[in-house]
Amino acid sequence: MTADIGTKSGIDNVTRMKPLVNQQELRCRGCAGSLSRIRRGLFVRTFFSWLPLKHYVCYRCNRKTYRLDKRA
Ligand SMILES: [Zn+2]
Repeated sequence: MTADIGTKSGIDNVTRMKPLVNQQELRCRGCAGSLSRIRRGLFVRTFFSWLPLKHYVCYRCNRKTYRLDKRA
């Protein structure tokens, strides 16, 4: 089970080695723009409703991604 369903690329894991305590603002993996919360899809609501999974969209490049909210 990976923490990111939206992309199959694991390149970002290399650049995120340093643990950040206050990682409030999420960044887009494509253009580094800020992500906005949107509603989760029906599939995720049905099968992953027990997970702290958040759906985000980047309005700059229109990329959508799911992130696990590890603070919960
Ligand atoms: Zn983007």
